[in-house]
Amino acid sequence: MKQFEDDDFEIPPAVPPPPPAPVNAPVTPTAAPANGKAASTALTDTPAPIPTRTGSPAYTEDDEVCDFGDPEASRVGDGYDRIRPDKSQPDLVVRFALMPHLKPRKALVHWVEGALGKSQRRCASKPRELPAYCCQVLGESRYHVVVPAIQYLNCSTTGAYAKDYTGPVEFKLGFVDLSPSTFSAVGGLVEDDGTNNIYQVDVTMKRNGQKFDFAMRKCVWRNRPEVAQAVESAMQRFVATGGEQKLHKKLGRETTLKEWRELLAGQVAKAESVTLDDDEY
Ligand SMILES: [Zn+2]
Repeated sequence: MKQFEDDDFEIPPAVPPPPPAPVNAPVTPTAAPANGKAASTALTDTPAPIPTRTGSPAYTEDDEVCDFGDPEASRVGDGYDRIRPDKSQPDLVVRFALMPHLKPRKALVHWVEGALGKSQRRCASKPRELPAYCCQVLGESRYHVVVPAIQYLNCSTTGAYAKDYTGPVEFKLGFVDLSPSTFSAVGGLVEDDGTNNIYQVDVTMKRNGQKFDFAMRKCVWRNRPEVAQAVESAMQRFVATGGEQKLHKKLGRETTLKEWRELLAGQVAKAESVTLDDDEY
């Protein structure tokens, strides 16, 4: 759990992670009894062993068979996407909740545009050392932060649920990618007083020109036992199946000094540092 320690970011302490839920618990919410104790009861169960490859059913040719519309076959990337309103929908409000199960991670990056297109690459400079070649050519690198989150999928286009809504709550796992200024803006939505913090609320996100506006909303997932159970199950599974590594990859492409030299050699004019506005984050 500690191999990416340099990425750990200082954020108000997360609420203590809940006791582990059974790793194999279904994501589909199960009906909660009227007393609403289902989630807490399930979460105190003895954790099931983490499934491993050796424990998985043997691969068969049936695993290759699929139909059109198969979500796995049509998935782009790792299915763990950045949460933000799309540029094509400037008025859409996206609603999400940050997940305390994994710490936020930070990294210095350069945004470069070269022959191979635009990419976010990890800066090669090390703390307490002189700026590396990438910084000498492109200027100072900048931090960005990735935080695991769930995005609500069936709220309104203004990010709202009807008052006293009791219907199903659809969500998907993803992450938010924040610049230093948006990281401060989100963290500043809730004053951490020991019991209340940014992980206890929902957040809405809306485009405002080249920037994003954030607002705090009452948390939906924590206040619905069956939703809380589904979110906990999904996050436990994510953590148990390489979630930390997936989050790490979202920080940008690792680029060695040699690769930076090749990337920037003779094409400095083309591979210029892209303006780092909030829209890129
Ligand atoms: Zn650099």
